[in-house]
Amino acid sequence: MIVRFMHDGKIRGGSYSEENGIVSGGEVLALEDVELLAPCQPSKIVCVGLNYTEHARELKMQLPSEPILFLKPPSAVLAPGKEIIYPLSSRQVDYEGELGVVIGKRCKSIPAADAERYILGYTCFNDVTARDLQNKDGQWTRSKSFDTFAPFGPWIAKIDPSDVDIQTRVNGVVRQRSNTSDLIFGIPDLLEFISAIMTLEPGDVIATGTPPGVGPMSRGDRVEVEIEGIGVLENIVK
Ligand code: MG
Repeated sequence: MIVRFMHDGKIRGGSYSEENGIVSGGEVLALEDVELLAPCQPSKIVCVGLNYTEHARELKMQLPSEPILFLKPPSAVLAPGKEIIYPLSSRQVDYEGELGVVIGKRCKSIPAADAERYILGYTCFNDVTARDLQNKDGQWTRSKSFDTFAPFGPWIAKIDPSDVDIQTRVNGVVRQRSNTSDLIFGIPDLLEFISAIMTLEPGDVIATGTPPGVGPMSRGDRVEVEIEGIGVLENIVK
């Protein structure tokens, strides 16, 4: 696992495993002794709307013929364990648990067959959304872009993402449970589609869409996104 963390006032990178803890620059540190940061610093976060078959059915929407994209600004990034700030202007803030793809190498107009070469790894992502503002505005910039609305982590893992379980829990209760094999557009196709539009930079994150079961969070709630082979992203709503 690739981690970014704060230790003794310094931001550092390293690798983490359960057996060895954090290894960074020849030093070994315990996970409890560091403050984990978001595992990379994206220049942009590209999100995919409506990308699970069952979620499209749940919303009674037709399956899209092409991916539906929107952006979240880098200012929305939130570290694992940190607080999602409930905006005063919203009455409904929803969780959306998603698989995040982290870009490892700059790319533009790549074919799906080459996509894997440009991927650093995968992470848990929560596409936090002010649902009332999304419905009111008719487009998604405001509802998706508040500071703290892009929690991801706790680290970047190198996994085969084609068939992994994904689950979202609120206060320990399972709200979303699915598998990435239900994705309408798979990750290689998404990279081909997105990179035909914009250059992807190392550290950019692609949030691949949410499965069925999205719903609201309240102040004080603990929300967890768990992905098989990666780990658990946990945040509290404030
Ligand atoms: Mg989403």
